[in-house]
Amino acid sequence: AKHLGRNNFQFYSADLTIKAAERREVETNLRFALKKEEFLLHYQPLVDLATREIIGAEALLRWQHESGKLIMPDKFIGIAEETGLIIPIGEWVMRSACQVAVALNRGRPRPVTVAVNLSTRQFLHNDLVSSIQAILAETGCHTDWIKLEITESLLLENTDNIQRMLQSLSAMGLCISIDDFGTGYSALSYLHRFPVRELKIDRSFTSDITDNAERALIVQAIVSLARNLNKNVVAEGVETLEQADYLHKMGCPQAQGYLFSKPLPLEQFLALLG
Ligand code: C2E
Ligand code: CA
Ligand code: CA
Ligand code: CA
Repeated sequence: AKHLGRNNFQFYSADLTIKAAERREVETNLRFALKKEEFLLHYQPLVDLATREIIGAEALLRWQHESGKLIMPDKFIGIAEETGLIIPIGEWVMRSACQVAVALNRGRPRPVTVAVNLSTRQFLHNDLVSSIQAILAETGCHTDWIKLEITESLLLENTDNIQRMLQSLSAMGLCISIDDFGTGYSALSYLHRFPVRELKIDRSFTSDITDNAERALIVQAIVSLARNLNKNVVAEGVETLEQADYLHKMGCPQAQGYLFSKPLPLEQFLALLG
C-alpha cells in the first residue's frame, strides 16, 4: 500500500507540474494578446419581450488568437483571474464597451444599454471604482448606457469594502445586475443590503421551464420577487418561441438568447439594431 501511495503521489505531482506549465503558457499568451490587441467583444442583443425590440446588448469577450482561432472566455477567464490579468483585460473590456455605447446611443431617443461582466477579482482591486469613473469620463459615456453584471458570489464576500464599492457605482448611476441568478447560494437576504437593480435568471432555469413544472415555478418566483422588489428581470438563454412566450406570460419583461440572436461581431449587431 505504501508503494502504491508513493506512485500515486508521483503521478499527481507530475500532473500538477504539467498543469502549472500550461497555465504559465496561457498567462504569457494572455499578456501578449493584450499587447497585440487580440481581444474583441461580441454583442448579444437584449430584447423587450412585449415588443421583441432590441433594447441593449451584453458584451462578451473573445480572444482572436494569432492562429486565427476564436477562443471563448470559459477557456481563459479563469487563468486571467488567477494571474490578475483580469484587471487590465477588464479595463480594456470596460473601455471598449463604453466607446461602443457612446456610438450606439448617438441620436437615439431611448437609451440602448451595454452590459459588461465583472469578475469578483476585479472588486478585490481597490481601483475598480475610480478606473470605471475615469473610463466613463474619457469616453464620454453616460451611466444610463452601461450595466454591470456581477455574480452572487461577490455579494457573499460581504465585506464593507465591496458594499461601499457597489454603493459608489450605483450612486454614479450605473445599473448593477446579478448574473446567473439562482445558481449561487441565493441568500435572498443580501438583496436589500446591496444596490442591485436587476436580476438575470440563469440559462439553466430558462432552458426547461416549458417541460419542467418545478423549474417553471422557480422562475415564476424569481420574476415575482424581482417585480415586488421593484427590480428589472432578464431571462438569459432563451432558445425557443415557447420559452419566450411563457416568460412573457409570467411577467418577465426582457430576455436574451439564441432565439433572438447569438452574440454578434459589432458590425452585425449594429446592422440588426438598425
Ligand atoms: P454569462 O455572463 O452567463 O454569459 C452568457 C453565456 O451564454 C455566453 O457565453 C453566451 O454566448 C451564452 N448564451 C447566450 N444565449 C444562449 C442561448 O440561448 N443558449 C446557449 N446555450 N448559450 C447562450 P460566452 O460568451 O461563452 O461567455 C461565457 C461566460 O464568460 C459568461 O457567462 C461570463 O461569465 C464570462 N465572460 C464573458 N465575457 C466576459 C468579460 O468581459 N469579463 C468577464 N469577467 N467575464 C466574461
Ligand atoms: Ca453575463
Ligand atoms: Ca449565465
Ligand atoms: Ca456568468
